[in-house]
Amino acid sequence: MSMPVGVRPKSLHLYIRTFGCQMNEYDSLRVRRLLAPLGYETVADIEEADLIFLNTCSVREKAEQKVLSFIGALRRLKERKPHLKIVAAGCVAQQLGGKLLNRFDHLDAVVGTRGVGLIAQVLEKIQKTNGRSVCLPEENPPVPDEDGREMFDSGDLTAPVTVMQGCNNFCTYCIVPYVRGPERSRPAVDILHEIECLEASGVREVLLLGQNVNSYGRGLSEDTTFAGLIRRIAGETGITRIRFTTSHPKDLTDDLMGCFAEVNKLCKHLHLPVQSGSNSVLARMNRRYTASDYIAKVERLRSICPDIALTSDIIVGFPGETEEDFRMTMDLLEKVRFDNLFSFRYSDRPGTKAAGFAEKVDPEIGLQRLIELQAYQAEVTLRKNLAEVGLVREVLIEGSSRASNGQMSGRTTHNRIVNFDASPVLCGKIQQVKITGAYSHSLKGDIVGRVDVYMPGK
Ligand code: SF4
Repeated sequence: MSMPVGVRPKSLHLYIRTFGCQMNEYDSLRVRRLLAPLGYETVADIEEADLIFLNTCSVREKAEQKVLSFIGALRRLKERKPHLKIVAAGCVAQQLGGKLLNRFDHLDAVVGTRGVGLIAQVLEKIQKTNGRSVCLPEENPPVPDEDGREMFDSGDLTAPVTVMQGCNNFCTYCIVPYVRGPERSRPAVDILHEIECLEASGVREVLLLGQNVNSYGRGLSEDTTFAGLIRRIAGETGITRIRFTTSHPKDLTDDLMGCFAEVNKLCKHLHLPVQSGSNSVLARMNRRYTASDYIAKVERLRSICPDIALTSDIIVGFPGETEEDFRMTMDLLEKVRFDNLFSFRYSDRPGTKAAGFAEKVDPEIGLQRLIELQAYQAEVTLRKNLAEVGLVREVLIEGSSRASNGQMSGRTTHNRIVNFDASPVLCGKIQQVKITGAYSHSLKGDIVGRVDVYMPGK
């Protein structure tokens, strides 16, 4: 949809609500960028919106319910503002398609995960015809080649960068391969260019995104691995810090582990989802590793980079999970002692293989297991945080503390949040902070030294 030359578009208000993963966050940024030339300006107050864009998530039942009740609650706003357009995109939209429009007659359009790049055309259609639209392209678009300068507000210090999309793994509980399609990697040259643009505009840390970044490079004409990509980013761009997510344990190579020791810019934190400590559960999940394979990789990683922070995902109550299986998961947790954990109770996701599995675990038993596991992990996380007290860590200052107590906040290379007294002018700088206290979710400290003098683009 093009504007005549010289015509300045009228300012329209876009409200974006993103549910779910960082890939959805990235897609929402793309929508903001694609709609900006049409005069859409993002607002934080939904009441001001002319267009509401909902990026939905169906990875867990709870997330999907949240999305559906959010859409339902928008009916009243639409009644008060009939010109308001409401678009649902993302995984729920991809899965339910036209059924979403049937269920919510105040919804104007449904855009599947492969259709986000077509948002401007969808809007044009519904505005011109005053009708409704379903956009569910079947073909997988290439991984978008974005110009980072247009994606972010000046002042953003950290930014996600998509390196690959889709997944070939088909874990039996997961909807991603169906809604995001097969793996596609983005050429390294495009990624490097985007990161250079981001760095020039003030971004200091990039988060390399993909459903399984460890398999980056498959299908590309150039011979690149994910470890090779990290080395190139570190060597060829001025970015200060590199993080990545998410990794499949079966694809974690020695070469990538070596990066944590060799590449200074790579933050010393790995999120490595294990999901269960029981081999029979892992086999039913189609994870293609055993608990001992996983532990062996962790030991190898820790021998290469002893102080790496390790986080993971666990699903409890997977179909057929016995008390003994659950004990194996608790044993694995004791052996590995993760720095932090994201844990969930299993719920059926329509369209996945596991949804058809018999032997569902009683939800009450699943809940009890989850409570036990989370209580154990909370203690381990707190102990790990307490072990930081007295250490001096390099912290990238990201902004005001969430506690709104006048303090500033930043993160260590190990991805721990630290709050401390500092002038706001230090935002974006890396400082040495001595850790003086630890809580369940954060640390506190005092600045004891400066690490860098930063000039964007240098
Ligand atoms: S690796 Fe498994 S859990 Fe992760 S996106 Fe692919 S199918 Fe889903």
